[in-house]
Amino acid sequence: MEKELLRKEYVFDEPNGRGNNKDGVDRWIQMLEKHLKSNNPYICSITQNVELLKRISPNFTIFKSEKSFFLVAFNALTININDDKNYLILSHEYGHALHNILLKDSMPDNYDKIIENAKEHCKDPEVNQRFSKLVRVICNREDSKDMVGRDPFSDIISAIYQASGFNTKDGDIMLPAYHNTKDYMDDQNNIDYKKVFREHIADFFALEANNCTEEISMLRDFFGEEFVNTLDYQFIKMNEVINVTKNYYSNNKAENTEETKFAI
Ligand SMILES: [Zn+2]
Repeated sequence: MEKELLRKEYVFDEPNGRGNNKDGVDRWIQMLEKHLKSNNPYICSITQNVELLKRISPNFTIFKSEKSFFLVAFNALTININDDKNYLILSHEYGHALHNILLKDSMPDNYDKIIENAKEHCKDPEVNQRFSKLVRVICNREDSKDMVGRDPFSDIISAIYQASGFNTKDGDIMLPAYHNTKDYMDDQNNIDYKKVFREHIADFFALEANNCTEEISMLRDFFGEEFVNTLDYQFIKMNEVINVTKNYYSNNKAENTEETKFAI
């Protein structure tokens, strides 16, 4: 990762236009430095080669803003520079950007079935007991303050059940981070699994990139190997795109050198 090159490629200063995004780009680079320490080798590699994003998607832009968000229509990552230092929200939004740029917003085959299997896995009485206990802990926000990856973890559960919380015999409980049911529905009010997957990949990226290993182990325990491995595999695919691009440009560079030699 070459910080100076990233600044050169992404920083703009246009007083009468888009303004100045320097602080936003610096914040993005700080987050990327954290991602370089990820235990996931594919996320490390994607981060080390982050300069290639501009080659793959030349109009990818960083903006400084009030809120961190990935705007699909503008291929832009807006960055709230006052966000907390955990980078989880920004990592989540950047995860959306990578899913769009590197995997073209694709969804794994049979994702609906994978979600059904994940729910089925969680119905096992022993697993369900551990799951219910944990859900109660995270829904009681005070008790789960020290759980760093709580919010992406909570949002993953929300997407699996397309719900913002659960009905229990003691009353309704709300998840600490969630999307609403309608966020996961299509126009005919059916579950749109593409919307479910989009949040899953962004949340799972945030957990993996920031080494929230405990939350990932719990996902494996509650929802099974298939669910977690499917999400994990997406980073292998993203890294393949990075490697192909890297090889393409290094081969082209070699050819260009040849051409220059002949020209001389
Ligand atoms: Zn999201």
